[in-house]
Amino acid sequence: MTNKEITCFFCFEQFEVSLEIGSSFIGNDIEIYDCEICCNPNKLEYEVYDGEIIINNVGDGNE
Ligand SMILES: [Zn+2]
Repeated sequence: MTNKEITCFFCFEQFEVSLEIGSSFIGNDIEIYDCEICCNPNKLEYEVYDGEIIINNVGDGNE
């Protein structure tokens, strides 16, 4: 499990999310995280390569 700080798409506050990444997982994934401050759903698009998590986009999870 890896913690990453993201900036909320709605209120622009930063909060930490916990990403469950399998040790052998490589590729792209999308998960929804509710903001800790405004409770809106943030759609997190991220990429895992060689144990590194790269956040590609944080968007509107209501879509
Ligand atoms: Zn927020």
